Amino acid sequence: MARRAAGLLALALLGALPLAAQLRPVVVRVSGPAGLDSLARLGFEVAGARRTAAGLEAIVVASPDAERRLAAAGLAALPVPGAPVGAAGDSFSVYRSFDKPLTGIRATLETWAAADTLLHLDSIGASWQGRPILAVKIGAAADAANRPNVLFMGTHHAREWVSTAMAMRLIRWLADSAPAGLLATRDVWVIPVENPDGYQYTFTNDRFWRKNRRDNGDGTFGVDLNRNYPEFWGYDNAGSSGTTANETYRGPAPASEPETQAIMAFHAAHPPIASVSYHTYSGLVLYPYGFREGALAPDLPIYRALGGTDFLPAVRDSVPDTFHAYYHPGPGWNLYTTNGEYTDWAYRAHRTIAFTTELTSGCCTPDSNFYYGFVFPDDSGLVDRVFHDNLPFALAVIAAAGDPTQATGPTGAGPTPPRVESIWPEAWVNLPAGGPIPFSLSVRGPTGGILQRSLQTDSLSRGTARAWWRSDVSLDQARALRVEGTGLAGELISVAGAEDADLGWTGWTRTGDAVAGSYAWTTVMSDTLTSPVVNLVGRTRLWLQFWTKHVGSTFTPEQHGLVQVSADSGATWSTVADMEGNGPAWYPVRVDLPTLAGTRGARVRFISVGFTWWLDAVGFASDSTAAFAALPPVAALELSENPVHGSQVVFSWPAGTGAPLIGVYTFGGDRLISAVLTPGSTEYAWDLTTGSRRVPNGAYIVVLQLDGRVLRRRLFVTR
Ligand SMILES: [Zn+2]
Repeated sequence: MARRAAGLLALALLGALPLAAQLRPVVVRVSGPAGLDSLARLGFEVAGARRTAAGLEAIVVASPDAERRLAAAGLAALPVPGAPVGAAGDSFSVYRSFDKPLTGIRATLETWAAADTLLHLDSIGASWQGRPILAVKIGAAADAANRPNVLFMGTHHAREWVSTAMAMRLIRWLADSAPAGLLATRDVWVIPVENPDGYQYTFTNDRFWRKNRRDNGDGTFGVDLNRNYPEFWGYDNAGSSGTTANETYRGPAPASEPETQAIMAFHAAHPPIASVSYHTYSGLVLYPYGFREGALAPDLPIYRALGGTDFLPAVRDSVPDTFHAYYHPGPGWNLYTTNGEYTDWAYRAHRTIAFTTELTSGCCTPDSNFYYGFVFPDDSGLVDRVFHDNLPFALAVIAAAGDPTQATGPTGAGPTPPRVESIWPEAWVNLPAGGPIPFSLSVRGPTGGILQRSLQTDSLSRGTARAWWRSDVSLDQARALRVEGTGLAGELISVAGAEDADLGWTGWTRTGDAVAGSYAWTTVMSDTLTSPVVNLVGRTRLWLQFWTKHVGSTFTPEQHGLVQVSADSGATWSTVADMEGNGPAWYPVRVDLPTLAGTRGARVRFISVGFTWWLDAVGFASDSTAAFAALPPVAALELSENPVHGSQVVFSWPAGTGAPLIGVYTFGGDRLISAVLTPGSTEYAWDLTTGSRRVPNGAYIVVLQLDGRVLRRRLFVTR
């Protein structure tokens, strides 16, 4: 884009600002995770929480007026020891205000751009007070259609200084250290300060300012720019506030703020395939959806591949004394619901694979033993740690912009193929783009009968250009399903959910709050729910399905749930998933279990560690099913030659779903060959001269096992 005239970057001189009541962080004792929700409903952003001997303590930033509102709600607020109050000043070694001559963010970017041909600086819009919203492009100056856009942003929220420091370090690293091939294949953009007025205000007036500096006209100032995007704007009053004085005030209208409009215009001009919006603090990698508990994005497999899981997280936290050694990854509602938020908007409006990273969980001051929180130390070594902790994830996001369906996370978690995410009570299917709409789903129950459904995708279920998601199919008693024309299928081998017929389960209690049937399991304590043994002999491509909900907090990860499986009837167990955070609405989880293939003694158990947890529709499942095989076996096993006179014979058959097993036996029952072929195989060439074992003349039996069918043919060799 064209560079603006320098005059447009000039900042109007500010008049004296009215001195608003100063904000300060306070500790609020709440009654468990539900208390954190009630703080959100009062319009506070819960910045942190920790469990003490006295109970759960939340950290919020409050004005004197807000402290009065807390008191009126029966919540006592105590100041955080050692937290600064008022203006921060502008003489830090790491942190620089936006306006500071020579060394401020704006001056630094201008200096860098003038000195480095790889850096291109532009203003994408102006703030309420006329500051430029600066975007830096690293690499070629012009966009190119063959270079997908990737965007990184800092400081939607004024006080979250480490996010700007992270963005500035990323610019320098990309300009100085990035492999040339990376910048040749991507258009990488960084917007270090999305909210320049608020950011400047934290240096000059109030260290804990969060919002922008709109004059709300009623004596209050500021809109929460990360609640002002037009997607799900004002969806409810828990995910944002309609009250001007509140920290999460969403603004008078969707996209009412010039800072929001600038980001939207940027996306329209340079739609990012992938993006990261940096915030502080908590140690989280969040992704859509955030607006409603339990809502999952159709591109969940891509988000999981990049962001990882609690069992295999993508970002470690090496800052000393953090309460968590890694960043918890999950949908936004794992923290708390938000609406009008950036990632939900970018994902829905531009199909951007968009992340919010809450940098580091903060650590403790030596004297107060309390979180640094927003006041991260002015220590370049510590900020460097945050940067290097997050660099591998940033690079994975840049790489993924080439083709998100092939996304590989920093953990090495590979591309996620289209698959069935849940079979029952709702069918959730992840499909490749480009397939027909509507598509056809066949479902088979436990007592036979095949139901066919023709399915449209709704707008929430339509993901990026690369994947679709179904969430609106509810067919009671479905045990197997097949998506016609895609090769995708799934079958529940076992399923249980605290019903009367579900024998052999131990632990937890049952509740009528169920997603399927009449009951579900639940616990509020440290307790283990263990399944009976399931026989998986002959079954491959295995996974675990369960539906879950849980009341927890990403701030108290010591309360969590482990999922373990055993292949030896419970003698030994291995962890396959770790559940954390808040998720108080039913949603399905799929965990792949390749090591359980063919085992006779499969079991699963759910270990609650002080976690408030529900489970239902728990079962072992397979991506292979014989449920739709043509019922009468057909003599469809063909031989290229019979009797065989040559040195090779080809067996062929119609395509099935599972892995074909081919064997050749003598009439006496001795096995000559046995081979498991890749699913979808339709032929096998038998070489009669392999090695030294030349197959003697005689009569043999060829056996094909496929999708639960067994086909036999006699074969004669006469040479
Ligand atoms: Zn933030």
